[in-house]
Amino acid sequence: MTSNPTAQGILVLNSGSSSLKYQLLDFTGQVRAHGLIERIEAGSAVGDHASSDYASAIDGVLDSLPADVTVVGVGHRVVHGGFYKEAKLLTPEVIGEIERLCALAPLHNPPALEGIRASMRRRPGVPHVAVFDTAFHATMPPRAYRYAISEALYQENNGELRRYGAHGTSHAYMARRVQELHAHPLKRIITLHLGNGASAAAILDGVSVDTSMGFTPLEGLVMGTRSGDIDAGLVMWLSQKYGPDNINAILNKQSGLKGMSGLSNDLRDLHAAGTPEAQLALDVMVYRLIKYVGAYTAALGGLDALVFTGGIGENDAVVRAQVIAGLHFFGLVLDEEANNVRGQERRITTANSLPAYVIPANEEGEIARQVREVAGI
Ligand code: AMP
Repeated sequence: MTSNPTAQGILVLNSGSSSLKYQLLDFTGQVRAHGLIERIEAGSAVGDHASSDYASAIDGVLDSLPADVTVVGVGHRVVHGGFYKEAKLLTPEVIGEIERLCALAPLHNPPALEGIRASMRRRPGVPHVAVFDTAFHATMPPRAYRYAISEALYQENNGELRRYGAHGTSHAYMARRVQELHAHPLKRIITLHLGNGASAAAILDGVSVDTSMGFTPLEGLVMGTRSGDIDAGLVMWLSQKYGPDNINAILNKQSGLKGMSGLSNDLRDLHAAGTPEAQLALDVMVYRLIKYVGAYTAALGGLDALVFTGGIGENDAVVRAQVIAGLHFFGLVLDEEANNVRGQERRITTANSLPAYVIPANEEGEIARQVREVAGI
């Protein structure tokens, strides 16, 4: 790099069910290009580069990248990594495993595979690395990842009926970053990724020991359109009354903040509306957050730092204030002025309090870092 004016960069690709997000980061972590292509396969793509499938979407991205940055590695966000504990260089075996895991993540792994295949065809000479949302949580002990179903049923299904968690890259980044802000080791950290999807993680000595999402990203906290924790008996009841085919829509798309408020999955709309239903949705979400932090504090044997991120965690001062107020007895005291912050890294508790922070999510930066680590570049 010293004799070459061209910077080296890592391209991070995040293929969603009908969209492709990308960022090109140089080795200083600076974002040199980014974009979003939506409605892939819908026939009438809109966005930075019109496209009708992943292959041409990726062609469009690669053709548009700045000429002064050489792509030396590509990172692919993959939601389900099964038992993988870390990011993996994409070999035929790893691709085969991601393909097998499509059965467990039918909405997420197939588009990621399409993106992987298309970009490996276009950039065969550089390392491609899969960074899994589940990997950070693969350190959970059995007592946290097992459901209390029969051993026979568990074995019959190859040990796959268990909790995996998600948002791992985001939780990993928060844990690493909050530790960087402290000179002494933080033993017990709770991280809250609160966006349209939401999850909490309990982190002991830098590794995840519990998280609120489970076999699928439906379990746990109240989310934009997902119910989070719910009695399986109620699911059976709903299935009988409304039919099994409607359960996915009821619990994943028509519940959560949107379902309860009858208005929107966006908290800004709920604050603005101020209806009793919107207020109740907010109350249920905050109450469950407080319960999870309490439970995870017990699981960790104490708490040294709490971190908020995601669209809600980074921007919504009211939710943060209510969560911290509910945890006052743990020694958390809000600094109201500091809490009046949006999308910036900041400590939001008083000097004498147990520390709580807003740390803006940086999944792409974390993926790029892991690509370099795995590929040795
Ligand atoms: P994410 O999935 O992380 O992009 O988060 C999206 C969600 O963050 C939205 O649905 C809103 O509920 C919330 N959000 C985004 N911006 C704000 C804001 N300025 N104030 C409150 N909530 C926000």
